[in-house]
Parts: sequence; structure tokens; C-alpha cells
Amino acid sequence: MKRSDAPPVTTDDLLFYLRCARRVYLDAHGDSRRRDRPGGFVEKLRADALEYRAEILKRFDITAIASSPHDWRTGAEETLHHMAEGVAAISGGVLVSEAADGRPLVGYPHVLVREEGVSCFGDWQYTPIDIRLGKKPKQEYQIVAAFHAELLSMVQCMWSDRAEIVLRSPSRPHRVDLEYRVPQMQKVLGRLLATLDRPEPPPYFISRSRCSLCPWLNDCRDRARSDRHLCLLPGVTLNRYRILEKLGLTTVEALADADPDRLAPFPEFGNGVIPQIQAQARAHRDAQPVPRAAHPHFTGDRFPSAPIELYFDIEAEPERGVDFLFGVLVVDREADRTTFHPCLAESPDQEAEAWGEFLALVEAHGDAPIFHFCEYEVETIQRLGEQFGVDRDRLQRIVTRCVDIHAWTVKTVVLPVEGYALKQIAGYLGFQWRDPTADGGQAVYWYDRWLRLGDRAALDAIAVYNEDDCRATWAIKDWLAGFLA
Ligand code: SF4
Repeated sequence: MKRSDAPPVTTDDLLFYLRCARRVYLDAHGDSRRRDRPGGFVEKLRADALEYRAEILKRFDITAIASSPHDWRTGAEETLHHMAEGVAAISGGVLVSEAADGRPLVGYPHVLVREEGVSCFGDWQYTPIDIRLGKKPKQEYQIVAAFHAELLSMVQCMWSDRAEIVLRSPSRPHRVDLEYRVPQMQKVLGRLLATLDRPEPPPYFISRSRCSLCPWLNDCRDRARSDRHLCLLPGVTLNRYRILEKLGLTTVEALADADPDRLAPFPEFGNGVIPQIQAQARAHRDAQPVPRAAHPHFTGDRFPSAPIELYFDIEAEPERGVDFLFGVLVVDREADRTTFHPCLAESPDQEAEAWGEFLALVEAHGDAPIFHFCEYEVETIQRLGEQFGVDRDRLQRIVTRCVDIHAWTVKTVVLPVEGYALKQIAGYLGFQWRDPTADGGQAVYWYDRWLRLGDRAALDAIAVYNEDDCRATWAIKDWLAGFLA
């Protein structure tokens, strides 16, 4: 295939390359059947970005490109035509140029705005503007903006010395320092082109922050599991892994048995990381829990148990700033009965009622411990208590009954798990969610769907997911009680 007939390198390729080289390689050459379909949360993020973009575009006198973004050649012709006409602003514009090796480069700036100046079209030129939902002008956004500026320079035969990014604070668009960012972008682009020519994909390294929204996550994770890769061990970050690689400690067994003095000189392994990470390796090697050294507070005789116990979990929608579901599972051990109470705000303005329902419920079981997973539940009780004017002593009585099962777990035991999230720990213990695809992000998507479309099934799905989270917390609590005993 001639280079000019090769698939183009696009704005998205550059953006994704800056996050992970492997992703771009797999997008180009991977087996698309192994690519995950976008989940509800990813779709919601996309919809939010489109909505925000549409809102910002209202500020301009827009001429929109009519052709499909996939038909980049027609889109580029249309863009050129409108630029030559000198229209005030173009949305959906397509900028095309060529890499040094002849491959097409295709940029999709969100808006091209006419400015004073000179170009091959006449006494005007255009400035590219990208619209991002983020709050900060991340490096990846700036490099992509520099890519658009350079392509635009080729198209309008005049160096474009301005490129802007509109972020979530619309009053202040970020002006990109092109003198600094264009050379940086050119180096990145060179590396991206070389990556696409590799015979094999770049290595994977699973990290939560980078991989959680990637469509190749299951593919990479399957490979990591079959390789028993250290990246699956909690605490093994990329920086630490690079050191372990240099030391030849690349297997679970080697790490578990390593002499700690070999790791001690590296600051990455300071602050008690060595025993922690080696215990983690041993738990994986032996496929069984490893007790931690005794802790003065987290001891078996302090672990609460009662005839009636409450298991509590909150669902929140951060964009709307609302805690919309306070789910409580009441476990009556003597009667061998469980009852789930979803204290639900069907609309954000019903948050106070749902909160009041929750308060009445927990106070009706005045002595029962309230088990939850992580700190969010207690933080929210305190925050909403203040917001809704609940008496301090009354609030304190509830807070002192709260028991964080996550804290109890991580302080007392090292488990052969890939992380200490609720799903990972309860999953290890054999607990199964009725909907295995459900998670916090999906719940946000469902709530949004309910509010926008009135889809009752979405609301019901949240309640099922929330109840399962409460039941998963209960499963961990019971297991931990036995383990501590
Ligand atoms: S899952 Fe992670 S390592 Fe794999 S391609 Fe995606 S971002 Fe890269």
C-alpha cells in the first residue's frame, strides 16, 4: 500500500497515543472483536462533551460541515471551500496534510474562527479552537491544539500563531504556547508514526487511572492474567515496575522471595512499601490471604457484630452534585431475614426527603452498627447533616455506629486480588452481582437516563446494583469476622 493510501493519523490517534502507545497500535492493527463496546458511562461522557460543545458553539456564527466525519476527504474539501468564502466560523472542519513519510494527517478542530490577517484565501485567516470538558489545559489537549495549528498553517499557507482551548470555565479560553508545543507535538507525532510501523504492539501495563475507560482493557487484562504480570499486583506502579525490571524481579515468585535490601535504596520503595508489596506477591503466589501484623485498633475483639446490622451504600451524581440513593440493607440475624430500603431521590430536588428517610431508618435501629465500604458514606453523612441542619450530637451518634469495612480489610489482611475495590474483594470471595456490568459509572449513566428519558428500568437497575453493593459489603464483613477470629 502506498503511504498516501494508508489510513490517516487523526486527532484522536494523537490524543490516545499521549495516554497509551499500545492503544493506538491496537486501534490500528488489533483484532476489533476483542475491543470492548463502550459502556453507559463512556457514552454519557461523550454525550456530555457533545452537549457542552453545542453550548459553546452558540457563541459563534457557525457554518457547519455537512459531510460525515468518516468521509474526511469530502469534509476537507468542504472546509477549504468555506475558508475560501471567508465564513465567520466553521464547526466540524477537517484539516488535512501529510506526514514526512506520506501518510495522511487529519485534524478535527472543534471550531475554526475567522480572524484579521492574511492567508492564501485573502485578507483573513483562521484560528483553531478546541472545546474540552476538562477543567485544566492538560498537556495532551495542548499538543493536540498544536497539531491543529500546524495543519491549519499548511491549509491556509500562513503560520497560525494562535490556538485556543475552551475549558469548563468558558470565560477564559486557554491560549496555547505554540512555540513550545509545536516542536513537542512534532516529536510525539514522529514516535506515533514509528509505533504504528512496529511488528508487535507496545507492551501493556494496566493502571487504573489510564486504563479504566480504554476499550482494550479486557484484552490487556486477559494477557496480563495469563502472563501473571506484576502490574496486576496492587502497589506495583509503572515507576516501581521499571525498577523491578532492572533488578530482574519480574515474576510474582521472584518479588515474593526477593531480598528486601535490593529494593531499599530506591525512594519509590520507601515508606513501608517493600513489606507491603512483598506480602501482596506472597498472597498471589500462594493464592491465599496473608494476615497483616497486629494493629492496636483493628483486632478481632473490636470488630462489631450484632443481632441486627445495617449495610449502607450511597449512589451520587457528581455532575449534578446530588446524592440520590441511600441504600440500607437491614440484616436481622436472629430472624434470619434481610430487608433492603432504597431511600431514593427520584429527582435531585428530592435529596432532602431521601436523606430524611435514611435518618429515620437508621435511628429506628438505634444500636445497630452501620457497615459501609470506604469513607464516602461517613463524609456524606457529615456533609448532608450540616447542610440540612441536623443537630451535631444526633449526627455524631450515627457516625460512631459506622464501620468502614474497607479500612478493616486493608488494615488486617493482604488478599490475592488485583485491587481493594468492593467488586474485587467481594468477587474474590465468590460474591456475584446480579448485573455484572453494573458499577458506579453505570449508575450515574442510569440516573441521567431516568432524569432525561423517564426510563424507569434504569432507576430499578440502580436499586438492584445498590442492594448488591450492600450485600457484597455484608459478604466481606462475614468473611472478615471469621478470618479475624
Ligand atoms: S488497557 Fe491500558 S495498557 Fe491496554 S491499551 Fe488500554 S490504556 Fe493501554
